[in-house]
Parts: sequence; C-alpha cells; structure tokens
Amino acid sequence: MRILGSALVAAAALVGSSLVAAAPATAAEESRYVARSEVIGTSHRGRPIKAYFRGDPKATHVLLVLGQMHGNERAGRKTASYLVRHRKPKAGTAMWVVPTMNPDGHRKGTRTNARGVDLNRNWPTSGWTRKGKGTRTWGGRARGSERETKAMMRFLKRVKPDYIASIHQPYGVIGKSSKDRAWHKRLATELGLKLKSLPVGPSDKVSPTLTGWYNRYYGKHGTATTIEYRAKPSTAWAGKKASRAIMTAARVR
Ligand SMILES: [Zn+2]
Repeated sequence: MRILGSALVAAAALVGSSLVAAAPATAAEESRYVARSEVIGTSHRGRPIKAYFRGDPKATHVLLVLGQMHGNERAGRKTASYLVRHRKPKAGTAMWVVPTMNPDGHRKGTRTNARGVDLNRNWPTSGWTRKGKGTRTWGGRARGSERETKAMMRFLKRVKPDYIASIHQPYGVIGKSSKDRAWHKRLATELGLKLKSLPVGPSDKVSPTLTGWYNRYYGKHGTATTIEYRAKPSTAWAGKKASRAIMTAARVR
C-alpha cells in the first residue's frame, strides 16, 4: 500500500502541474493489468528458468504457481500453460507462473536435475542431509547447492508471494499444514483432493523442500503448499479445472 500511496501523490502532483481538473483516482482506476515474462535464472546445463507475470504490478495479493520441480511429473506444466494463456487475475491481484524450475530434468524426463539432485530435498533447512547420493531423493552436496534452487530462492525472496502452489505428482493429495488452514481447505474443496501431511525427513527438523523453506523463513509473508496431482489427470482437469481451482482458492479470481 505504501507504493500505491506514493503513486497517488505522484499522480496528484502531475495533475496539479498540468492544470487539469481530474476526479480523484479510485483504487480501481489505479489498478493496471500487465502481462510479461522474465528469465529468473538458468539450470545446470544453461537452460532458462522462466517466470510469467499476470496482473497488477502494484498488487498486494500475489499467487505463485510452480508447475514442475521434478522433471518426470508433467501435469503441473499443463496448469501453468493454461494459466499463462487463458487466465487473468482479478483487479488488484497478481499471479506469477513458473512452468518448470527443472528444465534439464524435464528435457530428460528425470525426477532429479542434471546433477542427480532431487531439487525438493536441496533447500537450506535444518532437515537437509547429504546422504543418499545416487538415489532419487539425494539432497545434493550442500544445502541450496543447485543453480535451480538458488534461482528460485532469489526469485521467492524478491516476490514474497502470499500463496505458493508447488505442483507434484502422483499421490493425489494436498500437503496438510496447521498454517492457514482456510487456504488448504479451499484448495482441497476446489481441487477435490484430500489433505495429508507430507513431511520430509525427521519430524523435529524443517523439511528441505521449497514449502519447508518458504514457510520457515518467509512464513510471515505467505504460505507455500505442495499439491500432489494424481498420476494421470486429464488435460482438461490439469488445465482448465486446476487453474481455476488454484486461483479461486488463492482468491485471485
Ligand atoms: Zn514431485
């Protein structure tokens, strides 16, 4: 709101100097729709990690949808694609869409990145472990070691979304949390999936996942949630249905 306030002051100054008698700007008139994209970083093999912005640049209510972290889980990309092509958040809100943060894994159809690291075990939290090299859940050589993780961390620190939907497969559940129960409940209702706890690692530690990291360090700004689609949702479900459901739950539509 501080940004909006200064913009109003600037607008008022402009009106004053140009001697135009204008009606006071309302919140609706201040709201503006922008569609753009940017590269937030690159993968180990140098492939771009893209983010698409839709909505009001001054929005104070922001949703982020991450379509894919594990390269062999492809349905969330359909949600991302549908959001980018067909959905507009309502006035005063905004949405970021990252179709994949693992373009190397996507290209090869592997869960891990090109270095064999499970990106959803690589986040710098107390629950991180170096054990498991060569397995499908190896957390990497060090906390936050991977380029893809670093790019996403930088991006999340900058954007600080109110809601993050991190899409996976194939369990057909939504990661349960005591944090913001209402949002989780809305997601479950809209998507028709059950809530289930999805902890990673020891229960007294913070999961080394995107959601574990964001909720631990940026929990004041928002809530990150893992959404596990079923193994083979239809294109219509993953596209039209899920995009609408997540936007509704996040209250950006
Ligand atoms: Zn996954």
